Amino acid sequence: MLHISPLLAANPGFIVFVIIVLVMVVAIPVFAISYARKKKEPVSQSSFDPNKIIPMSPEVQGMYVLAKRMVFNGELDRAIIVCERMYALEPDSLLVNMLLGNLIFEKHPELSFQCLKRMERYLQEEGVRVDDPGVKDWAMYFYMLGFHYNRHYATDKAITLQNAAMNSRDFVKRHKAFRERFPYRTLNNDLNLTEDQLFDGVFASEGGAFSLKENPIQILKEKVQVLKGHFDDLYDYLKKSHERLPKIHFDFIDTMQLNAYATKSGDQHLIGLNLGTYLILEDMFDKMMASSNVLPDIGNITQETAEKKLLNVIETGGALSFALPKWIHPRCVSGDPIRRQLADFYKIAAFDFIVLHEFAHLAGGHVGYLQSLHKPVYAELQLSGRSAEKIDFSLYQAMEKEADMVATIRSFLMAAQFLELYKSKPQALPVYKDWESFIYHWTFAIYSSFRLFGFKQYKASEAKASTHPPPSVRMALISMSVVGLFTGKTFTKIDNNMSVIMFEAAMAAEEALQSISFFPNTTGIYQNNWESEEIKKYIFDITDKAYELMPVFKPFSFF
Ligand SMILES: [Zn+2]
Repeated sequence: MLHISPLLAANPGFIVFVIIVLVMVVAIPVFAISYARKKKEPVSQSSFDPNKIIPMSPEVQGMYVLAKRMVFNGELDRAIIVCERMYALEPDSLLVNMLLGNLIFEKHPELSFQCLKRMERYLQEEGVRVDDPGVKDWAMYFYMLGFHYNRHYATDKAITLQNAAMNSRDFVKRHKAFRERFPYRTLNNDLNLTEDQLFDGVFASEGGAFSLKENPIQILKEKVQVLKGHFDDLYDYLKKSHERLPKIHFDFIDTMQLNAYATKSGDQHLIGLNLGTYLILEDMFDKMMASSNVLPDIGNITQETAEKKLLNVIETGGALSFALPKWIHPRCVSGDPIRRQLADFYKIAAFDFIVLHEFAHLAGGHVGYLQSLHKPVYAELQLSGRSAEKIDFSLYQAMEKEADMVATIRSFLMAAQFLELYKSKPQALPVYKDWESFIYHWTFAIYSSFRLFGFKQYKASEAKASTHPPPSVRMALISMSVVGLFTGKTFTKIDNNMSVIMFEAAMAAEEALQSISFFPNTTGIYQNNWESEEIKKYIFDITDKAYELMPVFKPFSFF
């Protein structure tokens, strides 16, 4: 039943207009009814009326409808002007705060945050929950509020809001509209932006550049500086073997969610890594090495405390976010210097792998090719809502496979130099003692990282229906290519069975992850991927596709 407030009843013409707008918003009602019948769900009844909390004057109501209509017509700037006038007249109105908070989301993020927080507070005071059927249509506002919280490191709040939003039936549709309004984009550099500003603009709706933010957490700033310096070294190294390689700007995106991106804006090549991605890796390897049952032969495990150290992550929609509300937590690291060093090796091995993977998307011409198809940004994780568009999965899977191969080969070429160095200057940490040792520890790092994305048992048909091959299959592919490096001409053969070393490392990583989480043991799934004939055939298909596509990427490639 539609509740009509006395204010609305006083103006019949207005009601007709509101109804027309509502029909537009809720899409075609016939479709909605047939959907509801098919699902045999009762049409949700809302007992909640936002006008009851803070009624709007007729004047502001008129402006509200006008502003909404402008939004639907895509006239955002005009809608903001109308909304700002409404806000001046009725700064306390719930609907005004919601709409304004939405409209200025990108232009004035801090004011937007205040507006949406006010909306949240009104609802809390009224005892209305985010998942109340009456507020279902507002999923988008909650989703955006979640974005703000995420930027402010209140990940737990962000997740609650965004999960509630994603459960809303029409969220996918609205999320698509959100993406249309705030698309991944390239910026024309007519404005003479600095590299930092350009990066910030391109990733504005994901959280923007961390380096430009006034961040009060000193330790976080220092960490980011060190890693950016590390990227510069990595870039200089890559440039030596790829003379044509253009400048690549690397930065962290100020959000706690797990993701990484590669894109190009004009001539500027960009790699963006969500800060949360690195913090999850750091937390994971620090806590693994601070657990006495993990790799007990390394260092002195009597230095570790006995309690279980839990990984600080929250899962949402199948993906993880780093969850460390307000940073009120002493860092958890191993008590033994050798074990701490090993944790640091794992973090950098994983960081390098991700960055090299993104580098491969740029240098391999994937981003250039996709941009020629009007897809501006290569995102590693995409919300399920976005996969509704028609995507050539085999194209993406081939690019993923290639990027993983490039990252693997590069990691090993770099390691070869460290192994050489080790001969004249042995280290306390024997990772680079010989290939066997490196392969074991590198596999441990990369397997743990992939394992964060979740290992599930797949049929080949399911595995094909996604932009990325399943993480367990990717890890199997990577391991196979490592074997290939030593049976081919890249490195001299080693005596020990590499598959066995890598499988042992995978098992150790699996156990390590269990000691810091409640994740299930998925060693069996990983093993199945190695042995399944169906998956093997699927892997060959991806490999064939990657070869087939080489000439397509060539014009955009820097290799
Ligand atoms: Zn990728």
